[in-house]
Amino acid sequence: MSLRPYRILSSDRKGKSRLRAQSLENVVNEATVETLTGEVTAWLKANGASLVGIASVERFDGAPRGHHPRDFLHEARSVVTFGVALLRQALYWEGHLANSELVPPEHQKEVLQNYFYRQTGYVMVNNLLDTMALRISNLLESRGYLSLFFPATYGTKAIWGFIKERIPSKSGLFSQRHAAVKAGLGEFGLNNMVVTPEYGPRIRFNSVITEAELTPSPLIGEKVCLGEGCSICLENCPDAISLRPDFDPGAVWYDTPAQTDLDACVRLSNVHYCLGRCIKVCPVAQKSSRCKRALP
Ligand code: SF4
Ligand code: SF4
Repeated sequence: MSLRPYRILSSDRKGKSRLRAQSLENVVNEATVETLTGEVTAWLKANGASLVGIASVERFDGAPRGHHPRDFLHEARSVVTFGVALLRQALYWEGHLANSELVPPEHQKEVLQNYFYRQTGYVMVNNLLDTMALRISNLLESRGYLSLFFPATYGTKAIWGFIKERIPSKSGLFSQRHAAVKAGLGEFGLNNMVVTPEYGPRIRFNSVITEAELTPSPLIGEKVCLGEGCSICLENCPDAISLRPDFDPGAVWYDTPAQTDLDACVRLSNVHYCLGRCIKVCPVAQKSSRCKRALP
């Protein structure tokens, strides 16, 4: 009779101490996750990121087959997405040579689009994003978490023909725009880009897929794009962007409500010199929290 309660007490104690050990382990894990999340975010912000967000890999369920983060890294747990904002004056390039005595008027737009904007508003921003992605991947790997990233874009003249011939959809291997939305950085807009509350669409992204467990950022809960009542981006695009017929106008767009004809975009931008116009005209960007004065 006396042994029975003792045995129960003993297993109860063991159970309690096991529970205590487990909850202590959870607390330690949560603290590690929080610390690493803070460290990654702080590093990215200190090294040029305007925005940083984190998605758990589960948010990518439904991705095209072969393009889910776990298709690239089997034990992936998080995707860190970060953006570098574009300089306003990189987008307002059309008048920069208005008084030039060196560049003939008939060549000014072509020179500015291809020499100035393509570099300062595109190539250099993407280079910075790629460098940051490499460095943060190395940092995470040094902590024991395998990580990888893809180039911020394939949209360079040098590789466009290669992509067209080999990828019929012309899609990137990993969608930086979808990753940005899943990391809570913005909503898809009618311009087929991610519109962020802070910078509108004037921002570019890259992402790191990692085995590290990090704290996910909340998804955007309200619409950011002003929708069909605005449509300024569509009016300013010479026929490359079109709405998908089945989109729900009232929903928050976690998937794109529009599509871009990339061949048309390349062709038309070389005729109309409109590179960046679909970004520049969006009124959400005018509320940029970075600039201390209201800008058009
Ligand atoms: S670059 Fe020109 S053609 Fe291409 S999506 Fe933007 S506005 Fe349209
Ligand atoms: S220009 Fe208007 S419709 Fe287009 S993305 Fe911006 S807010 Fe949305």
